[in-house]
Amino acid sequence: MTSAAELHLLEGLERALINHRLFMVYQPKVAADDGRLVRVEALVRWDDPQLGAIGPARFVPLAERHGLIDQLTQWGLRTSLRQWRNWQALGLDPGLAFNISALSLEHLDFPDLVERMCRGLDVPTERLVLELTEGATQPLVKLMDTLTRFRIKGIGLAIDDFGTGYSSLIQLRQLPFTEVKIERLFIRDLAQSRDSRTIVKAMVDLAHGLGLTATAEGVETAEQLAILRDFGCDVVQGYLIAQPLAPEELAPWAARHKRRWKLLVNPPANSQSRPRLTANA
Ligand code: C2E
Ligand code: CA
Repeated sequence: MTSAAELHLLEGLERALINHRLFMVYQPKVAADDGRLVRVEALVRWDDPQLGAIGPARFVPLAERHGLIDQLTQWGLRTSLRQWRNWQALGLDPGLAFNISALSLEHLDFPDLVERMCRGLDVPTERLVLELTEGATQPLVKLMDTLTRFRIKGIGLAIDDFGTGYSSLIQLRQLPFTEVKIERLFIRDLAQSRDSRTIVKAMVDLAHGLGLTATAEGVETAEQLAILRDFGCDVVQGYLIAQPLAPEELAPWAARHKRRWKLLVNPPANSQSRPRLTANA
């Protein structure tokens, strides 16, 4: 049943979609070995004049429940693809990661729509990776066709929040993923917990064994970064590297990041010594 509060929020969201009150921010994902910018993850934001800032964790499920998700997805994707072209013009060349709701995947023609959008905005499909949550990939049989269509078109597929679902290993084996994003819960206590280190190391090895890119999300400390680099994790993302950025902030961030990365991975000799932990330390 829809509560009065939910209806109020829903009306606000409908207004926001019509009045262009939604906007996208972009969080850099960088290579763990040399810090180069690999991709940005597009994240939707809603700042309402009456309701204040509302996080996507609240309004995306609302859009899903009330038939607004396709509109939201298409608006967000079109906005992000256009933004990609703007970055190209500035000499930046990040790939683009975009979160897709399970419901949008239920339309068999969705891959064609995404391909048409990429063509229309002159973005190579190979530069796009769709991020799907484990729950979003069910039922497997039903989505297999759609996911395969994306791959045939050259679009990458990342399994998001990996490690939190219950049938993730089966999904990894059966579905045509290209990237595994390790849930930030496991990254949070990486430096303190031997168990987390064991799990994360196993996930990185698992991803590599299956020929997939291993990405760690929610990296917040230099210590976590050092451990992930030791484990051979491919891509890192989190507040340590960058907060989600407004589009015009990406170029200045990229310029600063090159110098900062060197300091992150090679702290000056007089700074606090960092133990190099292994999964079994
Ligand atoms: P997600 O895909 O797991 O996205 C990562 C979330 O972690 C983002 O929250 C990001 O701001 C946050 N984050 C990034 N680095 C760190 C860090 O170092 N520490 C911590 N504690 N958090 C970090 P956000 O933007 O609030 O998004 C929440 C969720 O909403 C996303 O989770 C995603 O599932 C969904 N979402 C966001 N944008 C969209 C969208 O455009 N479409 C759809 N369908 N879902 C979206
Ligand atoms: Ca994501």
